[in-house]
Amino acid sequence: MNGLPVGMFGRKGHLASQHRAPNHLCYVEMGAADFDIAIVGGGPAGATCLLALAGSGLRVLVVEKAVFPRPKACGDAVPGLALRVWEGLAPGLPARLAQLPSARSLADGYVCGPFGGRCRVQFVHPGLVVRRAELDAALLAYAQAQTPCTLATAALKSLEPLPDGFALHLADGRSFTTRRLAAADGATGPCRKLLTGLAWQAAEVSLAVRTYLPAGAGGAGADALALWFDKALLPGYLWAFPLADGTQNVGAGVLRLRPGQNLKQALAQWTARPADDERPQAEPDASAWLGQKLPLGLAGRSISGPGYCLLGDAGGLVAPATGDGIGQAALSGQLAAQALVASLRQRGLAETPQGLAQAYDAPLYRRLGPSFTAQRRMVALGRHAPWLLEGIIRLASRSEALRQRLASL
Ligand SMILES: Cc1cc2nc3c(=O)[nH]c(=O)nc-3n(C[C@H](O)[C@H](O)[C@H](O)COP(=O)(O)OP(=O)(O)OC[C@H]3O[C@@H](n4cnc5c(N)ncnc54)[C@H](O)[C@@H]3O)c2cc1C
Repeated sequence: MNGLPVGMFGRKGHLASQHRAPNHLCYVEMGAADFDIAIVGGGPAGATCLLALAGSGLRVLVVEKAVFPRPKACGDAVPGLALRVWEGLAPGLPARLAQLPSARSLADGYVCGPFGGRCRVQFVHPGLVVRRAELDAALLAYAQAQTPCTLATAALKSLEPLPDGFALHLADGRSFTTRRLAAADGATGPCRKLLTGLAWQAAEVSLAVRTYLPAGAGGAGADALALWFDKALLPGYLWAFPLADGTQNVGAGVLRLRPGQNLKQALAQWTARPADDERPQAEPDASAWLGQKLPLGLAGRSISGPGYCLLGDAGGLVAPATGDGIGQAALSGQLAAQALVASLRQRGLAETPQGLAQAYDAPLYRRLGPSFTAQRRMVALGRHAPWLLEGIIRLASRSEALRQRLASL
Protein backbone atom coordinates (compact mmCIF):
# COMPACT_ATOMS: atom_id res chain seq x y z
CA MET A 1 0.00 0.00 0.00
CA ASN A 2 2.79 2.30 -0.93
CA GLY A 3 1.19 5.03 -2.97
CA LEU A 4 -0.03 5.59 -6.47
CA PRO A 5 1.90 5.29 -9.71
CA VAL A 6 4.51 7.94 -10.43
CA GLY A 7 3.25 10.96 -12.36
CA MET A 8 -0.46 10.79 -11.52
CA PHE A 9 -0.45 14.52 -11.50
CA GLY A 10 1.67 17.22 -12.99
CA ARG A 11 -0.81 18.37 -15.61
CA LYS A 12 -0.84 22.03 -14.62
CA GLY A 13 -2.84 23.22 -17.62
CA HIS A 14 -5.46 20.58 -16.97
CA LEU A 15 -5.82 21.63 -13.35
CA ALA A 16 -5.98 25.31 -14.11
CA SER A 17 -8.87 24.76 -16.50
CA GLN A 18 -10.67 22.57 -13.93
CA HIS A 19 -10.48 25.29 -11.32
CA ARG A 20 -11.80 28.05 -13.53
CA ALA A 21 -15.32 26.92 -12.57
CA PRO A 22 -17.68 29.48 -11.06
CA ASN A 23 -17.91 29.51 -7.30
CA HIS A 24 -21.19 27.64 -6.96
CA LEU A 25 -19.66 24.70 -8.82
CA CYS A 26 -16.67 24.52 -6.51
CA TYR A 27 -17.80 21.45 -4.61
CA VAL A 28 -18.27 19.35 -7.73
CA GLU A 29 -15.18 20.60 -9.53
CA MET A 30 -12.90 20.18 -6.53
CA GLY A 31 -13.85 16.51 -6.46
CA ALA A 32 -11.60 16.09 -9.51
CA ALA A 33 -8.52 16.31 -7.28
CA ASP A 34 -6.77 13.01 -6.50
CA PHE A 35 -7.66 13.23 -2.80
CA ASP A 36 -10.08 15.07 -0.54
CA ILE A 37 -7.63 15.37 2.36
CA ALA A 38 -3.86 14.91 2.37
CA ILE A 39 -2.09 14.47 5.70
CA VAL A 40 1.64 15.18 5.67
CA GLY A 41 3.36 13.41 8.57
CA GLY A 42 2.30 10.20 10.28
CA GLY A 43 3.33 11.08 13.87
CA PRO A 44 0.74 11.50 16.65
CA ALA A 45 -0.85 14.55 15.00
CA GLY A 46 -1.17 13.01 11.55
CA ALA A 47 -2.18 9.57 12.80
CA THR A 48 -4.86 11.06 15.07
CA CYS A 49 -6.17 13.15 12.18
CA LEU A 50 -6.38 9.99 10.08
CA LEU A 51 -8.16 8.15 12.88
CA ALA A 52 -10.64 11.00 13.28
CA LEU A 53 -11.52 10.67 9.57
CA ALA A 54 -12.78 7.10 10.10
CA GLY A 55 -16.19 6.66 8.51
CA SER A 56 -15.98 9.93 6.56
CA GLY A 57 -15.81 8.11 3.23
CA LEU A 58 -13.29 10.68 2.02
CA ARG A 59 -10.29 9.90 -0.16
CA VAL A 60 -7.30 10.36 2.13
CA LEU A 61 -3.61 10.49 1.34
CA VAL A 62 -0.92 10.18 4.03
CA VAL A 63 2.58 11.30 3.11
CA GLU A 64 5.24 10.14 5.58
CA LYS A 65 8.92 10.26 4.78
CA ALA A 66 9.99 7.60 7.29
CA VAL A 67 9.34 3.88 7.28
CA PHE A 68 7.82 3.06 10.68
CA PRO A 69 8.91 2.04 13.25
CA ARG A 70 11.42 4.87 13.42
CA PRO A 71 13.14 6.45 16.43
CA LYS A 72 11.98 9.91 17.52
CA ALA A 73 13.56 12.43 19.89
CA CYS A 74 11.13 12.32 22.80
CA GLY A 75 10.85 11.69 26.54
CA ASP A 76 8.39 8.90 25.60
CA ALA A 77 5.84 10.20 28.14
CA VAL A 78 2.35 10.20 26.66
CA PRO A 79 0.23 12.72 28.57
CA GLY A 80 -3.30 12.00 29.75
CA LEU A 81 -4.67 14.48 27.19
CA ALA A 82 -3.50 12.28 24.30
CA LEU A 83 -4.94 9.17 25.91
CA ARG A 84 -8.28 10.90 26.43
CA VAL A 85 -8.42 12.07 22.80
CA TRP A 86 -7.64 8.55 21.55
CA GLU A 87 -10.14 6.96 23.94
CA GLY A 88 -12.81 9.34 22.65
CA LEU A 89 -12.04 8.47 19.03
CA ALA A 90 -11.46 4.75 19.51
CA PRO A 91 -12.63 3.34 22.84
CA GLY A 92 -10.04 0.86 24.13
CA LEU A 93 -7.15 2.24 22.07
CA PRO A 94 -5.14 3.55 25.08
CA ALA A 95 -5.54 0.14 26.74
CA ARG A 96 -4.08 -1.47 23.59
CA LEU A 97 -1.20 1.00 23.54
CA ALA A 98 -0.52 0.16 27.20
CA GLN A 99 0.16 -3.42 26.03
CA LEU A 100 3.07 -2.38 23.80
CA PRO A 101 6.34 -4.07 24.86
CA SER A 102 8.01 -1.00 26.38
CA ALA A 103 4.84 0.62 27.78
CA ARG A 104 4.40 1.47 31.43
CA SER A 105 1.37 3.30 32.93
CA LEU A 106 2.23 5.86 35.57
CA ALA A 107 0.17 8.00 37.92
CA ASP A 108 3.07 9.37 39.98
CA GLY A 109 5.28 12.36 39.38
CA TYR A 110 8.30 13.77 41.21
CA VAL A 111 9.51 17.37 41.00
CA CYS A 112 12.79 18.66 42.43
CA GLY A 113 13.39 22.43 42.66
CA PRO A 114 16.58 24.39 41.87
CA PHE A 115 17.58 24.50 45.55
CA GLY A 116 16.65 20.99 46.64
CA GLY A 117 12.95 21.35 47.52
CA ARG A 118 10.94 18.42 46.21
CA CYS A 119 7.46 16.99 46.08
CA ARG A 120 5.63 13.96 44.73
CA VAL A 121 2.46 14.49 42.76
CA GLN A 122 -0.36 12.19 41.78
CA PHE A 123 -1.79 12.70 38.28
CA VAL A 124 -5.57 12.82 38.01
CA HIS A 125 -5.22 11.21 34.57
CA PRO A 126 -2.35 8.71 34.54
CA GLY A 127 0.04 8.88 31.60
CA LEU A 128 1.90 6.22 29.68
CA VAL A 129 5.63 5.93 29.01
CA VAL A 130 6.33 4.06 25.79
CA ARG A 131 9.11 4.21 23.22
CA ARG A 132 8.01 6.46 20.37
CA ALA A 133 9.16 3.99 17.74
CA GLU A 134 6.55 1.56 19.10
CA LEU A 135 3.86 4.12 19.87
CA ASP A 136 3.92 5.91 16.53
CA ALA A 137 4.00 2.70 14.50
CA ALA A 138 1.08 1.23 16.46
CA LEU A 139 -0.95 4.41 16.26
CA LEU A 140 -0.49 4.86 12.52
CA ALA A 141 -1.23 1.19 11.82
CA TYR A 142 -4.39 1.40 13.94
CA ALA A 143 -5.55 4.57 12.19
CA GLN A 144 -4.87 3.01 8.76
CA ALA A 145 -6.99 0.02 9.74
CA GLN A 146 -9.89 2.34 10.68
CA THR A 147 -9.62 4.85 7.82
CA PRO A 148 -8.82 3.55 4.34
CA CYS A 149 -6.06 5.71 2.88
CA THR A 150 -3.17 5.76 0.47
CA LEU A 151 0.20 5.88 2.21
CA ALA A 152 3.01 7.48 0.22
CA THR A 153 6.34 6.76 1.89
CA ALA A 154 8.37 9.71 0.65
CA ALA A 155 9.31 13.18 1.80
CA LEU A 156 7.14 16.08 0.76
CA LYS A 157 9.40 18.46 -1.16
CA SER A 158 7.15 21.29 -2.24
CA LEU A 159 3.56 22.47 -2.26
CA GLU A 160 1.80 24.26 -5.05
CA PRO A 161 -1.32 26.21 -4.18
CA LEU A 162 -4.21 25.59 -6.58
CA PRO A 163 -7.43 27.58 -6.72
CA ASP A 164 -9.22 24.88 -4.74
CA GLY A 165 -6.51 22.91 -3.03
CA PHE A 166 -2.88 21.98 -3.33
CA ALA A 167 -0.50 19.94 -5.44
CA LEU A 168 1.98 17.98 -3.36
CA HIS A 169 5.33 17.20 -4.96
CA LEU A 170 7.29 14.40 -3.33
CA ALA A 171 11.02 13.80 -3.28
CA ASP A 172 10.60 10.54 -5.21
CA GLY A 173 9.08 12.41 -8.15
CA ARG A 174 5.43 11.62 -7.51
CA SER A 175 2.85 14.41 -7.33
CA PHE A 176 -0.73 14.39 -6.05
CA THR A 177 -3.53 16.91 -5.80
CA THR A 178 -5.72 17.37 -2.76
CA ARG A 179 -8.63 19.59 -1.82
CA ARG A 180 -7.53 20.05 1.80
CA LEU A 181 -4.23 19.72 3.61
CA ALA A 182 -3.47 18.66 7.18
CA ALA A 183 0.15 19.65 7.77
CA ALA A 184 1.47 17.38 10.53
CA ASP A 185 5.14 17.14 9.58
CA GLY A 186 6.54 18.08 12.97
CA ALA A 187 9.03 20.69 14.09
CA THR A 188 11.45 20.20 11.21
CA GLY A 189 9.11 19.46 8.30
CA PRO A 190 8.73 21.92 5.43
CA CYS A 191 4.95 22.59 5.53
CA ARG A 192 4.85 25.60 7.84
CA LYS A 193 7.45 27.48 5.83
CA LEU A 194 5.85 26.47 2.52
CA LEU A 195 2.35 27.49 3.61
CA THR A 196 3.01 30.61 5.66
CA GLY A 197 6.45 31.74 4.50
CA LEU A 198 7.52 31.71 8.14
CA ALA A 199 10.38 29.70 9.63
CA TRP A 200 10.63 29.18 13.39
CA GLN A 201 12.61 31.97 15.05
CA ALA A 202 15.07 31.13 17.84
CA ALA A 203 12.82 32.86 20.41
CA GLU A 204 9.87 30.63 19.47
CA VAL A 205 11.56 27.28 20.09
CA SER A 206 13.28 25.44 22.90
CA LEU A 207 15.76 22.57 22.55
CA ALA A 208 15.83 19.12 24.08
CA VAL A 209 17.92 15.95 23.88
CA ARG A 210 17.27 12.47 25.17
CA THR A 211 18.92 9.09 25.55
CA TYR A 212 18.40 6.03 27.77
CA LEU A 213 19.86 4.76 31.04
CA PRO A 214 20.26 1.02 31.64
CA ALA A 215 17.97 -0.85 34.05
CA GLY A 216 19.02 -0.40 37.66
CA ALA A 217 19.95 3.29 37.40
CA GLY A 218 17.61 3.94 40.34
CA GLY A 219 16.42 7.33 41.57
CA ALA A 220 12.93 8.84 41.42
CA GLY A 221 12.73 8.10 37.71
CA ALA A 222 12.63 4.36 38.42
CA ASP A 223 8.94 4.55 39.33
CA ALA A 224 7.68 8.07 38.57
CA LEU A 225 7.74 10.76 35.92
CA ALA A 226 10.59 12.69 37.52
CA LEU A 227 11.71 16.26 36.78
CA TRP A 228 14.65 18.23 38.15
CA PHE A 229 14.80 22.01 37.75
CA ASP A 230 18.58 22.14 37.96
CA LYS A 231 20.07 25.62 38.55
CA ALA A 232 22.50 25.17 35.67
CA LEU A 233 19.70 24.60 33.15
CA LEU A 234 17.07 27.17 34.18
CA PRO A 235 14.76 27.93 32.50
CA GLY A 236 14.85 24.26 31.61
CA TYR A 237 14.99 20.90 33.33
CA LEU A 238 16.21 17.32 33.33
CA TRP A 239 13.90 14.34 33.32
CA ALA A 240 13.91 10.59 33.91
CA PHE A 241 10.92 8.48 32.82
CA PRO A 242 10.77 4.71 33.42
CA LEU A 243 9.93 2.10 30.78
CA ALA A 244 8.61 -1.42 31.27
CA ASP A 245 12.04 -3.07 30.88
CA GLY A 246 13.53 -1.03 33.75
CA THR A 247 15.45 1.35 31.47
CA GLN A 248 14.84 5.08 31.86
CA ASN A 249 14.41 7.71 29.18
CA VAL A 250 16.56 10.63 30.38
CA GLY A 251 16.87 14.01 28.83
CA ALA A 252 17.40 17.70 29.24
CA GLY A 253 15.59 20.66 27.74
CA VAL A 254 16.37 24.36 27.78
CA LEU A 255 14.67 27.44 26.47
CA ARG A 256 17.89 28.63 24.91
CA LEU A 257 21.44 27.29 24.86
CA ARG A 258 23.93 29.52 26.63
CA PRO A 259 27.24 30.12 24.83
CA GLY A 260 29.30 26.97 25.22
CA GLN A 261 26.44 25.01 26.80
CA ASN A 262 26.25 21.37 25.74
CA LEU A 263 23.08 19.53 26.77
CA LYS A 264 24.46 16.01 26.26
CA GLN A 265 27.48 16.81 28.38
CA ALA A 266 25.33 18.47 31.07
CA LEU A 267 23.10 15.40 31.30
CA ALA A 268 26.00 12.91 31.33
CA GLN A 269 27.73 14.89 34.10
CA TRP A 270 24.50 15.16 36.07
CA THR A 271 23.86 11.40 36.10
CA ALA A 272 27.52 10.73 36.94
CA ARG A 273 27.53 13.07 39.96
CA PRO A 274 25.99 11.55 43.10
CA ALA A 275 23.53 13.81 44.96
CA ASP A 276 20.74 13.44 47.49
CA ASP A 277 18.03 14.63 45.09
CA GLU A 278 16.90 11.16 43.97
CA ARG A 279 18.59 11.47 40.58
CA PRO A 280 19.45 8.27 38.67
CA GLN A 281 23.08 7.15 38.55
CA ALA A 282 24.38 5.48 35.40
CA GLU A 283 26.19 6.18 32.20
CA PRO A 284 23.81 7.28 29.41
CA ASP A 285 23.63 5.15 26.26
CA ALA A 286 26.02 7.01 23.94
CA SER A 287 24.44 5.48 20.82
CA ALA A 288 20.89 6.63 21.53
CA TRP A 289 21.18 10.43 21.70
CA LEU A 290 18.56 12.30 19.73
CA GLY A 291 17.69 15.97 19.94
CA GLN A 292 15.32 18.39 18.30
CA LYS A 293 13.84 21.85 18.57
CA LEU A 294 10.40 22.27 20.12
CA PRO A 295 8.14 25.02 18.73
CA LEU A 296 6.41 26.43 21.80
CA GLY A 297 2.69 27.07 22.13
CA LEU A 298 1.45 30.63 22.02
CA ALA A 299 -2.30 31.17 22.42
CA GLY A 300 -3.66 32.93 19.36
CA ARG A 301 -0.86 32.20 16.86
CA SER A 302 -2.52 31.54 13.50
CA ILE A 303 -2.43 27.84 12.59
CA SER A 304 -4.67 27.64 9.57
CA GLY A 305 -5.28 29.31 6.23
CA PRO A 306 -7.27 28.74 3.07
CA GLY A 307 -7.60 24.99 2.69
CA TYR A 308 -5.08 23.94 5.31
CA CYS A 309 -4.49 23.39 9.04
CA LEU A 310 -1.13 23.14 10.82
CA LEU A 311 -1.18 20.35 13.40
CA GLY A 312 0.99 19.43 16.39
CA ASP A 313 4.59 20.62 16.28
CA ALA A 314 4.09 21.98 12.76
CA GLY A 315 1.66 24.43 14.35
CA GLY A 316 3.91 25.18 17.32
CA LEU A 317 1.78 23.53 20.00
CA VAL A 318 4.44 22.28 22.44
CA ALA A 319 3.77 23.15 26.10
CA PRO A 320 6.08 26.11 26.86
CA ALA A 321 7.28 24.93 30.30
CA THR A 322 6.97 21.17 30.34
CA GLY A 323 7.92 20.62 26.68
CA ASP A 324 5.33 17.93 26.04
CA GLY A 325 3.48 17.97 22.73
CA ILE A 326 1.89 14.58 22.10
CA GLY A 327 -1.41 15.57 23.77
CA GLN A 328 -1.66 18.80 21.79
CA ALA A 329 -0.71 16.91 18.61
CA ALA A 330 -3.54 14.43 19.20
CA LEU A 331 -6.09 17.12 20.01
CA SER A 332 -5.10 19.20 16.99
CA GLY A 333 -5.35 16.09 14.80
CA GLN A 334 -8.89 15.48 15.97
CA LEU A 335 -10.02 19.10 15.62
CA ALA A 336 -8.33 19.55 12.23
CA ALA A 337 -10.13 16.49 10.89
CA GLN A 338 -13.46 17.93 12.03
CA ALA A 339 -12.72 21.37 10.60
CA LEU A 340 -11.43 20.08 7.26
CA VAL A 341 -14.41 17.75 6.80
CA ALA A 342 -16.76 20.62 7.64
CA SER A 343 -14.94 22.82 5.11
CA LEU A 344 -15.54 20.24 2.38
CA ARG A 345 -19.24 20.25 3.13
CA GLN A 346 -19.82 23.92 3.86
CA ARG A 347 -18.86 26.38 1.17
CA GLY A 348 -16.89 29.39 2.45
CA LEU A 349 -15.13 27.66 5.34
CA ALA A 350 -11.91 26.87 3.50
CA GLU A 351 -11.76 29.74 1.05
CA THR A 352 -11.19 32.59 3.50
CA PRO A 353 -8.49 32.84 6.16
CA GLN A 354 -11.19 33.41 8.80
CA GLY A 355 -13.17 30.27 7.97
CA LEU A 356 -10.78 27.64 9.25
CA ALA A 357 -9.55 29.99 11.97
CA GLN A 358 -13.03 29.83 13.44
CA ALA A 359 -13.51 26.14 12.84
CA TYR A 360 -10.03 25.02 13.96
CA ASP A 361 -7.85 27.65 15.69
CA ALA A 362 -10.64 28.92 17.95
CA PRO A 363 -11.73 25.60 19.54
CA LEU A 364 -8.11 24.45 19.81
CA TYR A 365 -6.99 27.57 21.66
CA ARG A 366 -10.09 27.48 23.87
CA ARG A 367 -8.72 24.15 25.14
CA LEU A 368 -4.98 24.88 25.12
CA GLY A 369 -4.69 28.66 25.51
CA PRO A 370 -5.03 28.91 29.32
CA SER A 371 -2.41 26.21 29.87
CA PHE A 372 0.01 27.83 27.36
CA THR A 373 -0.34 31.13 29.20
CA ALA A 374 0.14 29.56 32.66
CA GLN A 375 3.19 27.66 31.44
CA ARG A 376 4.74 30.78 29.93
CA ARG A 377 4.43 32.40 33.37
CA MET A 378 6.20 29.39 34.87
CA VAL A 379 9.06 29.78 32.40
CA ALA A 380 9.44 33.45 33.33
CA LEU A 381 9.50 32.40 36.98
CA GLY A 382 12.27 29.87 36.33
CA ARG A 383 14.29 32.46 34.48
CA HIS A 384 13.84 35.52 36.67
CA ALA A 385 12.85 34.15 40.07
CA PRO A 386 14.21 30.62 40.66
CA TRP A 387 13.63 31.07 44.41
CA LEU A 388 9.94 31.55 43.75
CA LEU A 389 9.87 28.34 41.70
CA GLU A 390 11.63 26.62 44.59
CA GLY A 391 9.10 28.12 47.02
CA ILE A 392 6.17 26.80 44.97
CA ILE A 393 7.65 23.29 44.91
CA ARG A 394 8.29 23.37 48.68
CA LEU A 395 4.78 24.68 49.31
CA ALA A 396 3.38 21.98 47.05
CA SER A 397 5.06 19.34 49.20
CA ARG A 398 2.68 20.47 51.97
CA SER A 399 -0.40 21.50 49.98
CA GLU A 400 -2.56 18.93 48.22
CA ALA A 401 -4.37 21.69 46.26
CA LEU A 402 -1.09 23.07 44.90
CA ARG A 403 0.15 19.57 44.08
CA GLN A 404 -2.99 19.01 42.05
CA ARG A 405 -2.47 22.31 40.26
CA LEU A 406 1.13 21.33 39.41
CA ALA A 407 0.03 17.88 38.25
CA SER A 408 -2.61 19.43 35.98
CA LEU A 409 0.14 21.31 34.07
C1 LIG B 1 13.92 15.50 23.31
C2 LIG B 1 12.43 15.66 23.27
C3 LIG B 1 11.65 15.12 24.29
C4 LIG B 1 10.25 15.23 24.24
N1 LIG B 1 9.51 14.59 25.22
C5 LIG B 1 8.18 14.58 25.14
C6 LIG B 1 7.41 13.82 26.07
O1 LIG B 1 7.95 13.10 26.92
N2 LIG B 1 6.07 13.87 25.98
C7 LIG B 1 5.43 14.62 25.02
O2 LIG B 1 4.19 14.66 25.00
N3 LIG B 1 6.14 15.32 24.10
C8 LIG B 1 7.50 15.31 24.13
N4 LIG B 1 8.22 15.98 23.16
C9 LIG B 1 7.50 16.66 22.09
C10 LIG B 1 6.92 15.63 21.11
O3 LIG B 1 7.94 14.78 20.64
C11 LIG B 1 6.23 16.32 19.94
O4 LIG B 1 5.44 17.38 20.41
C12 LIG B 1 5.35 15.35 19.16
O5 LIG B 1 6.12 14.33 18.58
C13 LIG B 1 4.58 16.11 18.09
O6 LIG B 1 3.90 15.21 17.25
P1 LIG B 1 3.68 15.56 15.70
O7 LIG B 1 2.89 14.46 15.14
O8 LIG B 1 3.21 16.96 15.59
O9 LIG B 1 5.16 15.58 15.08
P2 LIG B 1 6.20 14.39 14.94
O10 LIG B 1 6.02 13.40 16.00
O11 LIG B 1 7.53 15.05 14.80
O12 LIG B 1 5.79 13.70 13.57
C14 LIG B 1 6.03 14.35 12.35
C15 LIG B 1 6.15 13.30 11.25
O13 LIG B 1 6.30 13.99 10.00
C16 LIG B 1 7.26 13.32 9.21
N5 LIG B 1 7.83 14.28 8.27
C17 LIG B 1 8.69 15.30 8.52
N6 LIG B 1 9.02 15.93 7.40
C18 LIG B 1 8.35 15.32 6.41
C19 LIG B 1 8.27 15.52 5.01
N7 LIG B 1 8.97 16.47 4.39
N8 LIG B 1 7.49 14.69 4.27
C20 LIG B 1 6.78 13.69 4.87
N9 LIG B 1 6.82 13.45 6.19
C21 LIG B 1 7.58 14.26 6.95
C22 LIG B 1 8.28 12.79 10.22
O14 LIG B 1 8.98 11.67 9.70
C23 LIG B 1 7.38 12.42 11.40
O15 LIG B 1 7.02 11.06 11.38
C24 LIG B 1 9.62 15.91 23.18
C25 LIG B 1 10.39 16.48 22.16
C26 LIG B 1 11.78 16.34 22.20
C27 LIG B 1 12.58 16.93 21.06
